[in-house]
Amino acid sequence: MEHPERSFIMIKPDGVQRQLIGEIISRFERRGYKLVAAKLMTPSVQLAKQHYAEHDGKPFFEPLVKFLTSGPVFAMVWEGKDIVATGRKMIGKTKPLDSEPGTIRGDFGIDVGRNLIHGSDSVDSANREIKLWFHAEDLNSWKPVTQGWIYE
Ligand code: UDP
Repeated sequence: MEHPERSFIMIKPDGVQRQLIGEIISRFERRGYKLVAAKLMTPSVQLAKQHYAEHDGKPFFEPLVKFLTSGPVFAMVWEGKDIVATGRKMIGKTKPLDSEPGTIRGDFGIDVGRNLIHGSDSVDSANREIKLWFHAEDLNSWKPVTQGWIYE
């Protein structure tokens, strides 16, 4: 009963400032996902640019990097069955008009440039982002006692 899929989930500076760390962790915990790593840190410009490399050159790139490096973010790795796709659903869509109530962005955000949280969009991105933000020894392998009540 191993579910090794992992996702990189990050509460952005607006989520930290708005004191939503607990609320967001709670949603992933209650769903049944397992926290594998977490840290509060202020990213360097280099790290922010590497993280968002696919958007380099777009009009929102520079403001996005400035925003992400403006203060602490809460970087996390979560693990569980289909965590990448489910995590994206829990986070909600990028466009504010499409982010449904019940999702994190849909419940707490209004503007695309202040959308509180990042979640990997594919397993490949997750692997890349986890390597970028964490050292291998920061990732905890552990077995929550609840697993048999979450997975059949
Ligand atoms: N973003 C923005 N303006 C835009 C599009 C994106 O400020 O018009 C920011 C927003 O913070 C978003 C991030 O760039 O979360 C990355 O965009 P992406 O399309 O990868 O969205 P996500 O995967 O975060 O939903």
